Amino acid sequence: MAAIAAAPRPCSRFMPGSAPSPRLNAWMVFAVLGMVAIPAAFDSGDYLRPSPSGYAAMAEAAPPAATAPHLAITFDDLPAHSLLPPGETRMEVASKILRALDDARLPPTYGFVNGVRIEEQPAAAAVLDAWRASGNPLGNHGWSHMNLDQHALEEFEADVNRNEPLLGPRMKDQDWHWFRFPFLAEGDTPEKRAGIRSFLLEHGYKIAGVTMSFGDYQWNEPYARCRAKGDNQAIASLESSYLAAADESISYSRGLSQTLYGRDIMYVLLMHIGAFDAEMLPRLLSLYRRRGFQFVTLPEAERDEFYREDTDLHLSPGADSLELTMTERHLPLPSHALAIPSFDTMCR
Ligand SMILES: [Zn+2]
Repeated sequence: MAAIAAAPRPCSRFMPGSAPSPRLNAWMVFAVLGMVAIPAAFDSGDYLRPSPSGYAAMAEAAPPAATAPHLAITFDDLPAHSLLPPGETRMEVASKILRALDDARLPPTYGFVNGVRIEEQPAAAAVLDAWRASGNPLGNHGWSHMNLDQHALEEFEADVNRNEPLLGPRMKDQDWHWFRFPFLAEGDTPEKRAGIRSFLLEHGYKIAGVTMSFGDYQWNEPYARCRAKGDNQAIASLESSYLAAADESISYSRGLSQTLYGRDIMYVLLMHIGAFDAEMLPRLLSLYRRRGFQFVTLPEAERDEFYREDTDLHLSPGADSLELTMTERHLPLPSHALAIPSFDTMCR
């Protein structure tokens, strides 16, 4: 009853004997019907209909389908990841991915670069140019895909710097200062973690987090072998297990987010520029759409409060994944509902 007593009582606004104005009449109709009155800023003057600019403002103000989960897709290891099937080129892999992103009308999608691959195979530089030509941005993944946990901080910083000449000229005035840690390794000691954060802060970087992943990279090697052998049955099993793992990871990440925050955070998906990823991308994007996702850019996703320590490097480092946040709060991690296929033995 307290809620009812606290609710505004429109009738008490009327002085006994006074005729209610047309405005108040309309307001009363809304109150009686239990409807919410139109906010004054959007009202056309009668408290019933929004003004033309009010309609536009309400559309802007409405959260985009509040219940739909949001996902930013990111690709690592440009321009070359894992084995290629016989006869396929790095450009063909990249072109398939770019076509799928374009066909599905995804917003600009970050690709994270390792420059060493261009030193090894100079023709692969065309992948970075094609990525840019289709309107997708590049970010820094370190020159040599170095694991910070296994190297000195100074060595790692030099590796980050060495990559920059590949990014700045291609990105011009657009923001390439997003850093994705190779192996998602952010340092094995508190000193290293703090050290790399202050280095990235000084150099204007934000950290590209990861809050959804199904280990997509694991399918690329067996796929290349199975293509070489022409084993279509094995390829079909790779296709179904890949989509099943992606599907399961949606439920997994959303479950963690709901447990921790009672809502969907904006998710960031980790993908790789592999031949099988390219082959599967149209089906994968359909899967996310079927599961109700709306696609956003990485900077949009990272505006979610969850990523605050990734985007404000003045803050001290905290748990940077949903799993670590669960562990920090002494919550048990659910087990994955799917077994990983035995990749190592396939198509040998
Ligand atoms: Zn990588």
